[in-house]
Amino acid sequence: MPLPQPDLPEPAHPDIDSMLSRKFGKEIANYFSGSPLNRVSFLRPDHAFLSLALKHPSTSFLLFNKTEPLIKSPTELAYAKFKDVQPVIGNDPFEKSEEDQIKEYNSVAYTPQLVFLGLDESKEGLIYKEYYKGQPYFALDITPKESVTEAAEKLIKDVEGQGMSFSRGRMHLSLPAQEAAIYAEARHLLDWNARNPFCAACGYPTLSVNAGFKRTCPPRDLAPMIKNTANTPDKPPCATRTGISNLSFPRTDPTVIMAVVSADGQKILLGRQKRWPPYWYSTLAGFLEPAESVEEAVRREVWEESGIHLGRVVIHSTQPWPYPANLMIGAIGQAIPGGEEIHLGHDAELDDAKWFTAEEVREALRVGTSGLGEGPGPEYKEGGLRLPPKTAIANQLMSAVVGGFVSGMPMI
Ligand SMILES: [Zn+2]
Repeated sequence: MPLPQPDLPEPAHPDIDSMLSRKFGKEIANYFSGSPLNRVSFLRPDHAFLSLALKHPSTSFLLFNKTEPLIKSPTELAYAKFKDVQPVIGNDPFEKSEEDQIKEYNSVAYTPQLVFLGLDESKEGLIYKEYYKGQPYFALDITPKESVTEAAEKLIKDVEGQGMSFSRGRMHLSLPAQEAAIYAEARHLLDWNARNPFCAACGYPTLSVNAGFKRTCPPRDLAPMIKNTANTPDKPPCATRTGISNLSFPRTDPTVIMAVVSADGQKILLGRQKRWPPYWYSTLAGFLEPAESVEEAVRREVWEESGIHLGRVVIHSTQPWPYPANLMIGAIGQAIPGGEEIHLGHDAELDDAKWFTAEEVREALRVGTSGLGEGPGPEYKEGGLRLPPKTAIANQLMSAVVGGFVSGMPMI
């Protein structure tokens, strides 16, 4: 049996009438978006704020062991308090200003990665400078290593002793939408920090600043002096200190994912990969390439994978996808008359691609959706089309198409 599929997040201000909603329809918020947190990004360099937020009694810490979050169950995250994490992070990693941290940088000293995720304004919590209120959230990597091995192992034992666990498996598609959005932000940032310990311009170790949202290449490093291998802490010049700042910030990689409609608006093209279970199909998808518009990427990917020539392409909605750092840009494209012949030979990525009727897709959306590793629902009949769950943007794109996104009337 598949796990229950959580409701999708509410879009912002769903009940307020607007000219845009009348023209383009209701906004679709996809799973992993819809976070309840105000990120107050401009407060990230403010160490006095971070220090207060860290120690506030209302503050929640989402713990990760490697890339796996602490959960109570597959449908609920677990959070720790400051007193729980204090033995791992120390009394106050934000005690000093960023300027001082950079001056005193020592690449050998290990600091567990902390990320400030934001303030949940719907809950009582910290009040800072009158305007900024709410319960603070942090993500913390407690993977046992280096100087914190012992403290981290003890914390893991403690939380596991209380019945919580670090979830195994890659996807977390059964969390309630708001929890999933908090988890997605945390995972994306922790993963980026873990993968970028060295400067992409000069190769020296980097320091996490801005509460986990930036890595900087300090001009000095005390470690070689302490180890008596150098008589100066000064490092060679690095371009990231003088202008190339895009290497210092977390990356998000755009991918395109698209529902393809036939020229007459009656059929939907879906494809399948070899590793998927039998009868399982989905929309086509691929990476946006450098110097390519979203519309061009959609047309190129569809032609490369299926041989179909697309005309007009419209963006439908988007979905953050923290595995590890993607933004899925969901589009709907319509084939041009005479451009609908399937040809799988250009790029051997797909096992099959096929045109389906609206009826087949509608029925599969009703009875044949589940997570990839799960069995279908009880009403599914063997041999019928199987599709991804509604937590996947592919499902929303197909639902939009059968619901009338293209012609304004539901497909028949
Ligand atoms: Zn550098």
